[in-house]
Amino acid sequence: MDAEQLREQGHKMVDFIADYYKAIENFPVLSQVEPGYLRQLLPDSAPNSPDSLQDVLNDIQEKILPGVTHWQSPNFFAYFPSNSSIAGFLGEMISAGLNTVGFSWISSPAATELEMIVLDWLAKALKLPDDFYSTGQGGGVIQGTASEAELVVLLAARDRILRRLGRNALPKLVSYASDQVHSALQKACQIGGLNPELCRLLETDSSTNYALSSSVLREAISKDIASGLIPFFLCATVGTTSSTAVDPLPALGKIAKTNGIWFHVDAAYAGSACICPEYRHHIDGVEEADSFNMNAHKLMLTNFDCSLLWVKDRSALIQSLSTNPEYLKNKVSQENTIIDYKDWQIPLGRRFRALKLMMVLRLYGLEGLQSYIRNRIKLAIHFESLVVKDKRFEVVTARVFSLVCFRLVPPPNSQDHGNKLNRDLLDSVNSTGRVFITHTVLSGKFILRFAIGAPLTEERHINAAWQIFQDKASALLGTSYH
Ligand code: PLP
Repeated sequence: MDAEQLREQGHKMVDFIADYYKAIENFPVLSQVEPGYLRQLLPDSAPNSPDSLQDVLNDIQEKILPGVTHWQSPNFFAYFPSNSSIAGFLGEMISAGLNTVGFSWISSPAATELEMIVLDWLAKALKLPDDFYSTGQGGGVIQGTASEAELVVLLAARDRILRRLGRNALPKLVSYASDQVHSALQKACQIGGLNPELCRLLETDSSTNYALSSSVLREAISKDIASGLIPFFLCATVGTTSSTAVDPLPALGKIAKTNGIWFHVDAAYAGSACICPEYRHHIDGVEEADSFNMNAHKLMLTNFDCSLLWVKDRSALIQSLSTNPEYLKNKVSQENTIIDYKDWQIPLGRRFRALKLMMVLRLYGLEGLQSYIRNRIKLAIHFESLVVKDKRFEVVTARVFSLVCFRLVPPPNSQDHGNKLNRDLLDSVNSTGRVFITHTVLSGKFILRFAIGAPLTEERHINAAWQIFQDKASALLGTSYH
């Protein structure tokens, strides 16, 4: 690594990225390439001698960027957002510059200690109970994704109960969640060797705005206990992926406690909003949880990846995930006075992600982040008001955060609840390349999801996007659906 070469090439790269952001609105948001497009454009082996940076940048511009779906475009309204910011970007730079692999305290003390500190800062901002702080028996850790966070807590919960009941109990363990839970839970159950049929996805419907009903949960648990099964894990969601439904944490937490079940709260998307006092009530009841996760990379201006997980009892994680090979032994680890994060996650190696989180927290301040999140939600309220005004459309579920679920009202003679009509609208809007949205299905209805969260989105982008919906709806309704 030649420092002067880094300076020169680093400046060029920053210029390249800054130019990308300047021009980002000119690209089709959803990449329009066909599968396999890139193999035809790049050589079939790596070069023997070095290419120049300029040649590589030219290829990125001409061959790679057309195949990029632009998540940071102000017209990206698909999935949930994955934020970037200058602060998060600079944090990634410094982390890449240091390139540490901080799996244990000794392997890079600041990486461990900064992670403990910033997770405690955020625990405080979220008003999590004291048990989640690293100064007690619990603590926070940065995982890559919410899926990893859910997997490690599920393994901790599984092993906690198996230590008590013996390994023969494994085939009888039951986990619970609503049918709106993210598929990450199912994957965690698969990896955890649990009986897939005992991953109970309990039915929800529009009467609870697709939140899990506590009476449905209570009934399912009683039935399972009566048939000799062993309830061990409950995953509640605050802000479900389909429609941002919020499960009733206080009631669910009580049931989990009564039955000795590990209670996990997945707030991957909506957790960030709970740093605003007016949205904090959505995680009331987290006091009863054993673990809680949120993705700072979704709505809190921290570049992907940065999924935050807190646990009340870190020893449960460590008992499941620790190994102690000779080649990693050191005096500090043996004395057990500090955290070795390798024992809180699946891989050994880990990036210094706390740096970017610290950069975001310090360069925005909590007030800056709150104001950013409020502004995204305000834009969603604006979009919702546009939908409501056009009687051809309906808002399908009550908006809670910055996602609006809506659809074209099907014509009276529709055979399929207007599902084809709405699918055609989705395809037709996305094919313009001027916006990108995704869909879900609730109670058999095909629904359009308009998720606001890209940092560059302003009201004018929302208005322009809505105009596209209206125009495409007119075209569709005026033709075959009339
Ligand atoms: N949980 C919820 C509620 C989500 O919405 C998502 C993804 O959008 C996940 C979990 C999985 O997230 P990740 O990609 O971080 O694993």
